[in-house]
Amino acid sequence: MGMWASLDAMWEMPAEKRIFGAVLVFSWTVYLWETFLAQRQRRIYKTTTHVPPELGQIMDSETFEKSRLYQLDKSTFSFWSGLYSEIEGTLILLFGGIPYLWRLSGRFCGYAGFGPEHEITQSLVFLLLATLFSASTGLPWSLYNTFVIEEKHGFNQQTLGFFMKDAIKKFVVTQCILLPVSSLLLYIIKIGGDYFFIYAWLFTLVVSLVLVTIYADYIAPLFDKFTPLPEGKLKQEIEVMAKSIDFPLTKVYVVEGSKRSSHSNAYFYGFFKNKRIVLFDTLLEEYSVLNKGLQEESGVEPRKDGEGDGEEIKAKVKNKKQGCKNEEVLAVLGHELGHWKLGHTVKNIVISQVLSFCLTVLSRRFEFQADAFAKKLGKAKDLYSALIKLNKDNLGFPVSDWLFSMWHYSHPPLLERLQALKNTKQD
Ligand SMILES: [Zn+2]
Repeated sequence: MGMWASLDAMWEMPAEKRIFGAVLVFSWTVYLWETFLAQRQRRIYKTTTHVPPELGQIMDSETFEKSRLYQLDKSTFSFWSGLYSEIEGTLILLFGGIPYLWRLSGRFCGYAGFGPEHEITQSLVFLLLATLFSASTGLPWSLYNTFVIEEKHGFNQQTLGFFMKDAIKKFVVTQCILLPVSSLLLYIIKIGGDYFFIYAWLFTLVVSLVLVTIYADYIAPLFDKFTPLPEGKLKQEIEVMAKSIDFPLTKVYVVEGSKRSSHSNAYFYGFFKNKRIVLFDTLLEEYSVLNKGLQEESGVEPRKDGEGDGEEIKAKVKNKKQGCKNEEVLAVLGHELGHWKLGHTVKNIVISQVLSFCLTVLSRRFEFQADAFAKKLGKAKDLYSALIKLNKDNLGFPVSDWLFSMWHYSHPPLLERLQALKNTKQD
């Protein structure tokens, strides 16, 4: 009853306050729903202390316990950081943080000799201040996540110096793109007349297409080192597989993901006839620098970029051998190429206009299809073992609450994927 009374009261407010109230109610509703789901999943981490019998073959109890503790820590972290950002957002709204920032940017413009007629300049200063604020309040959380949680569970490979340099670089690069793009957008809105929204929409569409096109070649290399995969058996086999399904592969890169963390991944990008594959060095058993220390026991060399120190080396040696064999890497790629062959990328772009929940459901379907595709390429057995290894390397937790998983997981639970692979392994 209290809720309806307050909704009634809201309806009698002026429009501006009504929107304000609606934003708050919506934001807290979403927040509480997500927190409820997270608590359900957290209960699973807490209560599932032994490897479920159906997983006995694929996960040892040590890895299971490691993964369980990692997920518990992550869930505690996201509870507190989520609570913080929800409260921060609410306080900003309640205490007029946005109008305050607008007046502040007006004052800065005034000092610089721009009068109130320069509202575009003022908007840009506003944007700069807002992004600066959000970057600085987000920084402690991100530091804690990297250097406490990821570090504790053996994933972090960054030094504090690398992290800070990276954060500053990210901020500068973002501003270099954001500021000119938004000033053009504001200009278009200003001169667009009655149909300004159509021009503005077209403009943002073009800008995002351009960004997607240049990202991999011009922006990503600012942050990470991409080297062509050396000639050899793995490269040959990748090329053969790409050719067999008419994938227009032009280059295979290895990205030095190990400089950030020991989480592993693989992806492809590029338009039309110019497709490239990127493999994380952490995915490749043969290339992973994280394995070097293990092979030579104590002969680990610090990285030659001046950022290595004693601490970092210790962290590396702790890691078990990680990554996949060549056949397994190929099986993972077979799955990725399945996404391409089945047109999932384009379908995702089209559907991303719709609700994100539908996208999650669809994405899970696509994962099964891509697995089935890799299976058709004769990779069922290798994909099976690759999925298990990747789950182990990334300390993925194999048990999940059904509601939480339905809402959040873009990939189906490991067990379901393995089951599906097994079912048709025979044929
Ligand atoms: Zn996939």
